[in-house]
Amino acid sequence: MLMNNTQSQVYDVVIMGAGMAGICQARHLLLNIPNIKIALVDPRPEERADKDMKVGESTVEISTLMICKELGLYDYMIENHPPKFGLNFHWPKDPAKTENTDDYFHLWATRQPPLASVLINRPKFERDVLKMNKEMGVEFYNGRVVDVDLTSGDELNSVQVKLGDQQLELKTKHVIDAAGRKFIIGRKTDNLVFGPENLYGVNNGSAWMRVRNVDRTIFHNGYDPANATCSHYYATNHWMGHGHWVWMIPTDTESMELSIGLVHHNDIIPGQSVNTKEKFSAFLEANHNVVYQLLKSGEEVDFHYLPRLAHKSKQMYSRDNWYVIGDAAAMFDPFYSMGMTMMSFQIENVTEIIRAKFAGEADVERKRVVYNNFAVNMIARNNHLVSHHEKQLGNASIMSWRIFLENMWWFGVLIPMYIGKWHLDLPFLHKFGKQGRGAVVAETLEEAYKLFDKLLEKKQNLGFMYTHRMDELPFGYSITKDVSKYIGLSKYEPKHCNIYAEMRNTYFFVALWYLKLLWKGFGLPGLLAPKNFKRVLTLLKISAQSYVDELIFDYQTRNIPTNSAVAKQREEFKNYQPRTELQSWQNLATVDANDIKLPELAEVGS
Ligand SMILES: Cc1cc2nc3c(=O)[nH]c(=O)nc-3n(C[C@H](O)[C@H](O)[C@H](O)COP(=O)(O)OP(=O)(O)OC[C@H]3O[C@@H](n4cnc5c(N)ncnc54)[C@H](O)[C@@H]3O)c2cc1C
Repeated sequence: MLMNNTQSQVYDVVIMGAGMAGICQARHLLLNIPNIKIALVDPRPEERADKDMKVGESTVEISTLMICKELGLYDYMIENHPPKFGLNFHWPKDPAKTENTDDYFHLWATRQPPLASVLINRPKFERDVLKMNKEMGVEFYNGRVVDVDLTSGDELNSVQVKLGDQQLELKTKHVIDAAGRKFIIGRKTDNLVFGPENLYGVNNGSAWMRVRNVDRTIFHNGYDPANATCSHYYATNHWMGHGHWVWMIPTDTESMELSIGLVHHNDIIPGQSVNTKEKFSAFLEANHNVVYQLLKSGEEVDFHYLPRLAHKSKQMYSRDNWYVIGDAAAMFDPFYSMGMTMMSFQIENVTEIIRAKFAGEADVERKRVVYNNFAVNMIARNNHLVSHHEKQLGNASIMSWRIFLENMWWFGVLIPMYIGKWHLDLPFLHKFGKQGRGAVVAETLEEAYKLFDKLLEKKQNLGFMYTHRMDELPFGYSITKDVSKYIGLSKYEPKHCNIYAEMRNTYFFVALWYLKLLWKGFGLPGLLAPKNFKRVLTLLKISAQSYVDELIFDYQTRNIPTNSAVAKQREEFKNYQPRTELQSWQNLATVDANDIKLPELAEVGS
């Protein structure tokens, strides 16, 4: 029986859920808003057992930057979680023969990407960061939120927590739903959207298993000196096939733990055919036998099945001081590990809104509206990014082209946007939205996906496009150009990197990519078709507009150092004089030679 505790605590922020999103949000708030009073609520035990394991073990560049750079966890990650060397994709040469990795065509990440990524052991990460949060002053309630009373405007909200046989009421200015698929605020406010008809047709489910002590040499023996300067195993390996893909993610170097999961599209592979451990194993045995062998080489830890992966929210940040982040907000398909990427943008948006509110800044409501629109658009883009998958995933030619295109936007626009904190800059977001530059990305992808569908019908082989090679497009274009100016000049401070320069480059090369697709896939009639021609012109127009913006930005920032710490050290260094003297310490020169006791001859070599 519940006892009502009349004593209520008052917080600045209550975060419901101490999973990945909740703990990262708490740490980000603590690091950016001095003296903020935060409560975190989660029913799971602080010491995580095997039962508590979750999916979401792979980060990509943006989520790694959020965890390591924004939360200051580089050292902790190196010491506790495996590194990641990009994304590899494999398509069977013949679906009937999948016993060896060599039976597949590969898109390997052939070198360490310019920005690091990590693989995450989730229970360890959540346990450790929760502990860090507590040490920094967060109050943790190891209980379950049973209800939340959302009030209008700036009135205090209240969160009801069941803690053992007690019920507590936490009063709070801001309440954040990070409780994943419990959808506490989503259900309360009718904020959720489900169903393929509302999600660009995405209708997928997922089954996954974790095993320990696997024999990774079944996959690869690690010897590939002529082809790669990085590990193949410590990556996210995608095994592709019609209507599905299978992930393989190592999450621990000591226990050789491996997460293996399947994302299936219900139209092609019905849920009932893969929703148990036995059916899942049988599917792998028949369709990706090498992964099946790997699975069988280890000891089983857990199995899960989720019949419906995709959902999104109508609103992300409310004027009534509630926010939804992480899985509580949206999730579509982990193909590019976008769960934590969307979360990274959300965490920074939420902190900035709350910070501006506390500081009493005049434009805070405008900020909330613009950030909310940005976040809603971003989840729509991510939803779109996995549309048309059901037909296309198994086609190596089409998917290699598709992955190339999607990586161009990722490295060319999204990463510099995140690094430069442009997603927090109101004038930029306004301009980006108003000029339709963001919308053009979505339109271009949609038209390309439709062209791919046509090519599928024609059963045409377009050739294989290598994401990591510089010979796919003219002018030595490279998606992961290590020499990119903002990294080369460590322009990591807000609004230092010239986002327009990256956009100019990306839109231009996407236009070239598009021309190549039209030419190879549809010949001259395809190139000259008015709709296609217009698409190329639109991309070139935005590239030209971005070039003008790039020059203006360069002019406006001509007196700003590319990096303030480097500028400061350069200034200090002007007075530097190389010196040779050493500070005194107890050394042989100060010790009397008679005091040195030499060993007797007999001792030497005994
Ligand atoms: C199959 C699959 C694979 C994925 N792989 C990736 C990937 O590789 N990379 C990636 O970036 N993303 C991935 N994702 C997305 C991933 O789920 C999210 O990035 C991440 O796990 C979401 O974390 P979260 O904190 O929002 O939710 P969760 O990790 O689910 O955390 C929610 C927390 O809320 C707590 N909670 C529940 N009910 C209550 C309550 N009533 N009161 C208080 N607390 C409560 C829970 O105990 C839990 O700790 C994947 C998703 C799926 C479904």
